[in-house]
Amino acid sequence: MSESTCVFCKIIAGEIPALKVFEDDSTLAFVDIGPLAEGHLLVIPKEHYEVLQEMSPEAVAAVTRHLPRLGRAVMDAVSAEGYNVLQNNGRVSGQEVPHVHFHIIPRIASDGLGYRWNASKYEDGRDKEIQQRLIRALQA
Ligand code: AMP
Ligand code: ZN
Repeated sequence: MSESTCVFCKIIAGEIPALKVFEDDSTLAFVDIGPLAEGHLLVIPKEHYEVLQEMSPEAVAAVTRHLPRLGRAVMDAVSAEGYNVLQNNGRVSGQEVPHVHFHIIPRIASDGLGYRWNASKYEDGRDKEIQQRLIRALQA
């Protein structure tokens, strides 16, 4: 998907409406149209990047620096006890809109939200093998 067909780029350009709550030169935060809970916010870079790894550290920092304040505002606004920051990359991860976005999802103890967090265990030595692969990948 290119910038011209991207729904979030259209929101940034003012071509389709959104309930904006914050913006600066690099960042826009607006209410998610399909909330997992009331107050569910999306925080996006104003430049079009499909996935996080396309962004420079500086561009990521310019967006994520706002997360603590926005998280606090979400908690205050809907009396949440906590929140999840969720950021999906690629269709397999659940990403439906291919423009980088951070979800801020307010949580209360009784909300019934959750994950299938099927934690497994490494076979003997496999964890160290994976560690080495990760270190090599970081050197590439
Ligand atoms: P993801 O599955 O991580 O790509 O999440 C995409 C999110 O964008 C979903 O939570 C949608 O509800 C939300 N969304 C899609 N279109 C709009 C829109 N026009 N305004 C606000 N939120 C939207
Ligand atoms: Zn876009």
